[in-house]
Parts: sequence; structure tokens; C-alpha cells
Amino acid sequence: MSSKSATSRRQAFRGSTLHFLDDPADADPAGSFEFHDDGLLVVEDGHISKVGNAPELLPTLARDTPVTDRSGQLIVPGFVDAHAHFVQTDIIGSHGQRLLEWLERHTFPAERAFADPEHAREVAEFFVTELLRNGTTTALVMGSVHRASVDAVFAAAAARGMRLIAGKVMMDRNCPDDLRDTAASSYSDSKALIERWHGHARLQYAITPRFAPTSTPEQLAGAGRLAREHPDVYVHTHIAENEEEVAWVRQLFPDRRGYLDVYDHYNLLRRRAVLAHGIWLDDREMERLAQSEATLVHCPTCNLAMGSGLFDLPRATAAGVRVALGTDVGGGTSFGMLRVLDEAYKVAQLRRHNLSPLRAFYLATLGGARALDLDGRIGSFRPGNEADFVILDPAATPLLARRTSAAKSLAERLFLFATLGDDRAIAATYLMGKLSHQR
Ligand SMILES: [Zn+2]
Repeated sequence: MSSKSATSRRQAFRGSTLHFLDDPADADPAGSFEFHDDGLLVVEDGHISKVGNAPELLPTLARDTPVTDRSGQLIVPGFVDAHAHFVQTDIIGSHGQRLLEWLERHTFPAERAFADPEHAREVAEFFVTELLRNGTTTALVMGSVHRASVDAVFAAAAARGMRLIAGKVMMDRNCPDDLRDTAASSYSDSKALIERWHGHARLQYAITPRFAPTSTPEQLAGAGRLAREHPDVYVHTHIAENEEEVAWVRQLFPDRRGYLDVYDHYNLLRRRAVLAHGIWLDDREMERLAQSEATLVHCPTCNLAMGSGLFDLPRATAAGVRVALGTDVGGGTSFGMLRVLDEAYKVAQLRRHNLSPLRAFYLATLGGARALDLDGRIGSFRPGNEADFVILDPAATPLLARRTSAAKSLAERLFLFATLGDDRAIAATYLMGKLSHQR
């Protein structure tokens, strides 16, 4: 049976099914999720048709409906990785630096190689494959300064039918000469990429100034103009990752009230503006972020590896700021959102906050989709949504099997996936109902 015929009609998947309807408060998650221990997910033409109890739904299906039996495994919406650098794939796991040294020593040399489109294609293919191996079905991705790097990652995602948001890094100061664009070229290159890719297949564009220190005021003004001209594209950048960086931004932009105000001033804060980190923001900045409907991305594996600081998730939530989770590959140390959930829990512990397993899985699925303004399409098993989902295998490793067999609740099972799970726990990944990775 070809994959094309499989997606063009009705098919069903039997297993435990879990998806979120809303943000489960850490204390009282009732009503925020739908779980069926013996569940059935019905997919039609690549979209969710229904989800429910298998014994109730099976008799309602036509006799020839193919049913994939995943009994004993857990079917959840595909993970959303809201911040990653595909051009940093080959520096993941590099030892020993804080942010600004990391950029000089690892990032810039690695990104220089993307001047070669063939290299860009090879890495893009690996990157997309690795996301799927880790259960990630939607990602927001930074390219390098080279326009062809973004062509490469979009082409790799389109070939798989994957939902991806990406953009060319804009960077016209405080970087090596051969990685520098200009205010004018970054504007015109980004515009050309928007016209070529935004809205094509499942791809969307993000205007991507790397971060305030590597852009002149002229470049940021151009990015803001582009944002005004294209109200439905994303803005993707970094903010307040570590203290040295925040101090540097104050020196570079003495007329602005703070880091967030730099982006605000240049019209880069809005719904669909996605800012990685936000560890060192003050209360006024949090309030302004909430009001602007921009999103912060918590990237705990990166924040810990670089010693950047401990993101305060309850504070962001209380301020009404939209929050998603990200791997931040390659400053982050894993492609896997399960690893991100594990580290997010530990960061919260250090903040004297208890992140519930339900909320963690919400953030990796519907929460991420909401933060990216995509919850009308992905993130849950709402009928009509695109059928991107993941099969989690509780028997993936001997230890996971042993611990899970003793788990008494859904929350315990989820927490074990987050604590003990990695790419081995991803039994299969589906895009639009099509098998796109099988372990
Ligand atoms: Zn980053």
C-alpha cells in the first residue's frame, strides 16, 4: 500500500490517546485534557476526524478502515519546538562557554560553512530527520545569514510534508565580516524569501534578527518595516538570555529603556513575535510582553548548559505571557522535547516550583501551538486539525518499562517519559497521517 493511498482515505490508530483542550493549571488539571486508556484516533485525508474510546468508535468505522494497533503505547499530538538553529546541528555538545564566547568560538565558524548550499542541504536533511526521530512535528528555526540556508531547510521540510517556520538571520554588526549582511540586503533577501516560501505547503516565514547586539538600528528599522508590510509572518529573535548580554544591549542602545524596548521601538513586538529565553526581564518588560501578545521560549537544556540562568515559568504565566518550549539546538544539548521537559522540571525545582507532568506535556503540544498562533491547525486532536502525532513507547528501554509498569496514574506515566525517555521512546512520528519516522 503506498503512503499516498493511505493518507487519502480514512485510517485509525488504537492505543492510549492524550491531548489537551486547555492549559492545565498545575494544581487542578480537570477538564483541560482528554485521555482514553483504550483510545482510537481516526484520521481522514491527513486530518483528525475524531478521537474517543476504541470500543465505542470501532463499530462505527467502515469494515475496510485500516486500524494500526498501538495498544499499550501512548498517542499524543506531535511536539512543537519553538526555538532551534538548524545551522548549529554540528556544534551541539560543544564544551565550556557562556553565550557571547559561544557565538565567537562555535556559532560563527559553524555558520560560515553555510555559504556552501550543498552543505546547507546536507545539514537540513539531517536536521529534519532528527526532529522527526525525536517526535517534533513543528519547529521554528533560525538559518544562517545566507539566504540559501533557508531555502535548504524549507525544501527539506516540504519534501517530508512537515510544518516549519524559518528565517534568514539578519546580522550587520558585531560579527565576522564574512557573515555580515547589510540593512538593505537583509531587508531584500528576507522579502524575497517571504515571497518564495511563506504560505507555500506547510511553511511560514520568520523575520529573524539574531539578537539586538548584532543588528544596527538601521537593520532593526528595516526588520520592523518588513513586519509591518507582512502582518502574518513571524518575528524570531533572542532576548535577555544572560546578564553580560543584557548589559551589552544597554551600552549599544543607550536611548532605549531596556532590552525589550529595543524590539518594541522598532515594531518587532506583536502576536507571532517569538523571543527565545527572556530570563533577565523586569516586571515592566513582562507586562509589556503580555500586552503585545508576543511569546517567550523557555529553552532549559541550553540555559543550563551555558549557565545563563533559571527561567521563571510561574512568573511569566502569572504575568499573562505566552510561553512555549524549545530545544535551542545547538546551544541546547538535545533535539528531543522529552529532554526539554525533563530539564524544564529541574529548572522549576530550583525555582521552588513544581511543574506538573500534565502542564509540561501541554507546553510541548497545544501550548506551543498556541504560542505560535497555530492552535487552529495543530497541537491537539480537535477534529479538522492536521494529523501530526507521535507514538510514545513505554517499553522503549528496560528501565522505562520497569518503572512504567508500576505507574498508577497518567501523570506518573508522563513524568517517566520526561525523566527517562529520549528518542528511543518515540516509536513513530506521523505527519498529516503519514508515517514519517519509525524507530
Ligand atoms: Zn538560540
